[in-house]
Amino acid sequence: MNALAATNRNFKLAARLLGLDSKLEKSLLIPFREIKVECTIPKDDGTLASFVGFRVQHDNARGPMKGGIRYHPEVDPDEVNALAQLMTWKTAVANIPYGGAKGGIGCNPGDLSISELERLTRVFTQKIHDLVGVHTDVPAPDMGTNPQTMAWILDEYSKFHGYSPAVVTGKPIDLGGSLGRDAATGRGVLFATEALLKEYGKTIAGKHVVVQGFGNVGSWAAQLISEQGGKIVAVSDITGAIKNSSGLDIPSLLNHVKETHGVNGFSGGDPVDPNSILAEDCDILIPAALGGVINRENAKDIKAKFIIEAANHPTDPEADEILSKKGVVVLPDIYANSGGVTVSYFEWVQNIQGFMWDEDKVNAELKTYMTKGFKDVKEMCKAHDCDFRMGAFSLGVNRVAKATLLRGWEA
Ligand code: GLU
Repeated sequence: MNALAATNRNFKLAARLLGLDSKLEKSLLIPFREIKVECTIPKDDGTLASFVGFRVQHDNARGPMKGGIRYHPEVDPDEVNALAQLMTWKTAVANIPYGGAKGGIGCNPGDLSISELERLTRVFTQKIHDLVGVHTDVPAPDMGTNPQTMAWILDEYSKFHGYSPAVVTGKPIDLGGSLGRDAATGRGVLFATEALLKEYGKTIAGKHVVVQGFGNVGSWAAQLISEQGGKIVAVSDITGAIKNSSGLDIPSLLNHVKETHGVNGFSGGDPVDPNSILAEDCDILIPAALGGVINRENAKDIKAKFIIEAANHPTDPEADEILSKKGVVVLPDIYANSGGVTVSYFEWVQNIQGFMWDEDKVNAELKTYMTKGFKDVKEMCKAHDCDFRMGAFSLGVNRVAKATLLRGWEA
């Protein structure tokens, strides 16, 4: 099932659970605005290259639309639509005053030089600058983008509108980025995991954890979980996969990745087939890469008791059903990976106030939000006798529906 069909399905199930009026349901589902732009840049060798960029603004009932910009070959309109919608429910679950949006450019950033990436980012910003803004739509990093990308967007946007650091989040610290933002999604995954395990009378110490994807989110989650005594027994990325049943030494692995740009060849573990990493023996599985990786083909092989969705939509609805029958507990993306956008919100607040928080304050506030988020999701699960995914969806959809009704439809 593609990302949009899966997201729509989960939304509709939640709408039914909440007994939403069908007109309201339809209005919540249709995106506020979809933008598609052509971005042509001169390459370093003087030839021209054309790319397609997207920004889908899904909903703004609760505040400015918010979400990352992804540079990846698989970026397509359906996927961006799904991710934008997920941001609407995610910001509502986190209870931060935002709606949802997502953007992306269909490209392989690894094939582009730094100056080509800069030109592409600037051209994209020129095409969308009138439709984003501090109080309308605030982009952030996602797969294939980083603080430098945000710095270029900020600079290009500021040429048209004056210097506005709060127009993007996930910026470099020297340009008004927040301390703790880089680690925030991974740290949020740690807090989400702790909250879930506490529910089962367990802690992270000694738990065997598999992390699929070792980019920003996966590597921070692995590092922070191992600092709490969790054993990271296998990790994978696009270069390969490695395992060590007594626990990988994460600081050494991080050094290896810095030097070689991938986990492959790490001497502190044995190579394994990246396609079988989801089926590795462990207590906790953390998918932290692309969407749709857990599907009806591989769900039956999963041995983990808990899945913490650090990626967006890693689990197909058909896989959800198989996992639920197996008794696997899935903590869904729209709660589990909300740490990134939550600290984006803190960054935006700091920029608007012109005041910088120290890192301890950022991390402590993040913990408060993640703990409260878990409690709110759990209450919805109890009220509707449903799993965590439906608990989170119904929580998010209900908050957006309430805001929509309060604002009204009068022209
Ligand atoms: N790209 C991240 C996400 O999917 C962060 C979005 C943001 O900070 O606005 O949640």
